[in-house]
Amino acid sequence: MTQIFDNPADFADEALDGFVAANRGYVARVDGGVVRSTEVPAGQVALVIGGGSGHYPAFAGLVGAGLATASACGNMFASPAAGQVYRVAKAANAGGGVLLSYGNYAGDVLHFGQAQLRLNAEGIETRTVLVTDDIASAPLDQIEKRRGIAGDLTVFKIAGAAAEAGLCLDDVERLAIRTNYRTRSLGVAFDGCTLPGADAPLFSVPAGHMSLGLGIHGEPGISDHPMPTASELADLLVSRLLADKPDDAGTRVVAIVNGLGTVKYDELFLLFGKIEKLLTAAGLTVVEPECGELVTSLDMSGLSLTLLWLDDELEQYWAAPADTPAFRKGNLAPRARRELAGPEDTAAENTEQATAASADLGRLAAAVLAQVRDVVVEHVEELGNLDAIAGDGDHGIGMRRGVDAAAAAGEQNASAGASVERVLTAAGEAWSERAGGTSGALWGSAVIAAGLALGNRESYRAADAAAAVTAFTDAITELGKAEPGDKTMVDALLPFRDAFLEASDSGACLSGALTGAAAAATEAARQTADLRPLKGRARPLAEKSLGHPDPGAVSFGLITERIATYIESGAGTPGADNSRLAAAAGNGAKND
Ligand code: ADP
Ligand code: MG
Repeated sequence: MTQIFDNPADFADEALDGFVAANRGYVARVDGGVVRSTEVPAGQVALVIGGGSGHYPAFAGLVGAGLATASACGNMFASPAAGQVYRVAKAANAGGGVLLSYGNYAGDVLHFGQAQLRLNAEGIETRTVLVTDDIASAPLDQIEKRRGIAGDLTVFKIAGAAAEAGLCLDDVERLAIRTNYRTRSLGVAFDGCTLPGADAPLFSVPAGHMSLGLGIHGEPGISDHPMPTASELADLLVSRLLADKPDDAGTRVVAIVNGLGTVKYDELFLLFGKIEKLLTAAGLTVVEPECGELVTSLDMSGLSLTLLWLDDELEQYWAAPADTPAFRKGNLAPRARRELAGPEDTAAENTEQATAASADLGRLAAAVLAQVRDVVVEHVEELGNLDAIAGDGDHGIGMRRGVDAAAAAGEQNASAGASVERVLTAAGEAWSERAGGTSGALWGSAVIAAGLALGNRESYRAADAAAAVTAFTDAITELGKAEPGDKTMVDALLPFRDAFLEASDSGACLSGALTGAAAAATEAARQTADLRPLKGRARPLAEKSLGHPDPGAVSFGLITERIATYIESGAGTPGADNSRLAAAAGNGAKND
């Protein structure tokens, strides 16, 4: 249970501010995360790591000489937003290119991926190496689908040491890929973890049992087992990892026993002693091991074992010195502090001349966003609980952070008379930025796409609504690449789009088309209960998810129902032809 906070919504930000205040000799705060506060030689590759908060010392605690250059820090268990990653990487860049490295989770992949595109487009050469060490999350022949847990440390450490040694981006990337390929982890949980402000843990383990194959975001384990003795536990972890060893493994291994939050160090050491004996008995030599808290999951009671099979080159970089707030090895000469440039003023100049029709539609869009916020707020808990079944339990709070920011940005722009294009692009950017997570990236880009489709026109016709729905849908399928049947929000989104387009093609009014489409989305969301998740965080726990609908599909259904009801009500505009959008579409000059 997390007890020290003023407002749970500010927990991650305030904890990061305090971390920086306690470690100014190492790190400085930048918009979106932290960057080394010490000199980085010109031309050095910048290693930018990151992920959600709640995993200390991952990720900010690993920023320092010989390890990461910077860390993008998302909200509790939620990926940082693309804008954050971008700004942190810009602050970290020393002219040698950027390597982004992070655990393989859908939300992180979307946000870091968007940041990478933007950095490359600006001429900052940027590559990505995903960490995929968790053997419980997919079989070996699908290693690229595995998620990243404590193996983050081996990949970051070796890439960071290689960058520090002055290797070029190609070489740092190559070593990071090889380290990841030779790293395996497996974790167990004895009890779940609780998000700040939540009154129940994200999952719990039956008394006298342990859960094998946990995730580090409160995703429950893959299977429950009676609690073993320490010797049995050591044997289980070692034998599972050895059975999964890479080709050409060799006999020298790094072993990391990682505590997830509330297991005592004495217990970790006790287990480590047994693990070391087993590894030695298996003919392996344990090289410079680690035992302690390295990648945690808030107050989760649990631990993991990571093995990295070394070769000569990897061993050299694993053994190299590093000096960060939470990870120190060997001796490094003290570094001079560096001056960090202040944040760039990126606010675009407001040169827009909104047409009356577009400003009118902008006000309607802002009112719709306020409705979306209200319906999400009403269902926060239900959405979180659904996501906790096989995901990480943050769908409610993530959506809420997103819609709160989107509705505020929408309102601010609409009241200043902005076009619908500007209202929706500002709202979408705010959504993605504040929410993080998979759904934040998808909803943010979709709202932006709808805004761009509506543009700033002299007048609007019914066909424009269809174009906006199509653009909204395409943004989500292009970015997330989910197929129908993967058990994601796409399973509700496509039936919504199809019903909407069919109704508008046959001349239905906006309100009628929306009502039918929302009903189709809700029914499709309900039917996702029969599916196994093939994308996103719930995939490793597919069996647990059976019988329960997909949280992203459910929230999509709820939101579309609310919008349909709102538009049908005429939104308080007496005499409006069924809806204010229809009114705006029919008369470009009409105001509220
Ligand atoms: P996270 O998974 O990062 O914790 P959320 O919990 O907010 O993010 O959102 C989870 C939802 O995101 C899932 O229920 C699913 O509907 C949706 N989702 C996950 N991956 C994809 C994808 N590739 N395409 C479309 N939707 C996805
Ligand atoms: Mg989630």
